[in-house]
Amino acid sequence: MTDVDILTQFHKAEIKRNKRRRRRERVKAYIKEYLVAHPCISCGTSDNLTFHHRDPAIKRMKIAKLVSYKSIEAIRIEIDKCDVLCRHCHDLVHNIRRDDEEEQDTTTT
Ligand SMILES: [Zn+2]
Repeated sequence: MTDVDILTQFHKAEIKRNKRRRRRERVKAYIKEYLVAHPCISCGTSDNLTFHHRDPAIKRMKIAKLVSYKSIEAIRIEIDKCDVLCRHCHDLVHNIRRDDEEEQDTTTT
């Protein structure tokens, strides 16, 4: 391999990395903007916002994980399945759900 080949490979890899980084930044900016426009649907705060999947059955992936390698379009589809909840309300919802499930368990047995 010549020096030029090595340099070409190096630049190709760098272009790829930059492309990935720019896409990640665009996706992050999109999510940030979305959250600015969508405070917690339960208590109205704009702090510590999270995405809550309304129906866990259609949940594909955590939004935070999608950011690293999905397109804005994929993120948008996933966000559409979600309500915005702050960390506190999100925890409450999951605790209530868990209680419901436990109750159902005891009534069926
Ligand atoms: Zn809240």
